[in-house]
Amino acid sequence: MISNSRVVAVVVLPCIVGALRAQQPIPNLAGRVMTVSGPVAPDRLGHTLMHEHIFVDLTLPDDQPERWAAAGRQRPAGATAARLYHQPLTLDIVSSVMLGAINRDNWLLTDESEQAREIAEFKRAGGGTIVDATSMGIDRRPEALQRVAQASGLNVVMGTGWYAAGWYPKDLDRRTVESLTDEIVRDLTVGVGGTGIRAGIIGELGTSANPGAGIENRILRASGRASRLTGAAITLHSTEAARQHARILDILVAEGADPSRVILGHADYLAGDLTYITPLLERGATIEFDLLGKPPLVTRKWPIDSEVAKTIVALTKAGYADRIVLSQDVSAKMSLKSYGGTGYSFIEEQFLPYLKRQGITDAQIARIMVENPKRLLTFVAPRS
Ligand SMILES: [Zn+2]
Repeated sequence: MISNSRVVAVVVLPCIVGALRAQQPIPNLAGRVMTVSGPVAPDRLGHTLMHEHIFVDLTLPDDQPERWAAAGRQRPAGATAARLYHQPLTLDIVSSVMLGAINRDNWLLTDESEQAREIAEFKRAGGGTIVDATSMGIDRRPEALQRVAQASGLNVVMGTGWYAAGWYPKDLDRRTVESLTDEIVRDLTVGVGGTGIRAGIIGELGTSANPGAGIENRILRASGRASRLTGAAITLHSTEAARQHARILDILVAEGADPSRVILGHADYLAGDLTYITPLLERGATIEFDLLGKPPLVTRKWPIDSEVAKTIVALTKAGYADRIVLSQDVSAKMSLKSYGGTGYSFIEEQFLPYLKRQGITDAQIARIMVENPKRLLTFVAPRS
């Protein structure tokens, strides 16, 4: 780990616009990975999970039905549903949640000692780095991330930007592209709030069926700009049906982002559709299969991991091993080992051995788990 005092030389970019950038030059972080504990040499990452949530709050306020609608969630109806919704998640009601009950506590990953224990399982299984993709609006916790990173010995890379419509902070839709850009750049180069703890990636950014309009469009444009100005990568949340990836790349590229710095998340839903995936990879984007190990739910059909594995084999054979990353998107208590799930170590303990049985070599696994994350998390030279 490299101490904060050795952050590389500061360069003043020409054509600086915006209040923040007029006051402070943007540091050139090229060649470094930014973790919550400071910059780290890229060779120190090891096996990397590119899209997890160590801390997250995906609850919705009971008195704001418009947020539930925006999130596509049904509120609990009836006495039994209300009781299950409000009680703490315990092992004896996990099966009810699998069968369709909703439980508020399930959407909260907030217990620091519990989360430290859970991520230690990934370290024990051979892991080195976790990207915490919790962005603004869903309870990003820079200081707690720093503490669990230090306790676990893992590198933790924090996200910035904004998540999805149900969780946008109040008044976000009044913000301009310039003001959103400034906040992202500040998170990446100065730190979040007064903490001095810096984000190392832009996202996860929620995207919908209509990325060309409204605040979602402004967030994407600001993220494209911020990626250009800082050299950070962008990680995207996409929904099952939207299939707007090409259009989103167009929006980011129009603001100067490099498509090879963009990660298309939740792509498990695209498994098997090489006709759709290949042109995106040809543009340089990286595909992220990050829903691996999710516990079964009758209300939501997760993609089947054998289909994801088949797609990884096919993409590897076609020469795209350098465009694939993996993760588990742990974002609910029922995914944790202490609630009967596979936690943060499903990929290390189960999926990588399975991929090997399908013919993926050790060198290809190193490419997917180490080299590709390293390329993406290492800042490139900023462009004005
Ligand atoms: Zn997501």
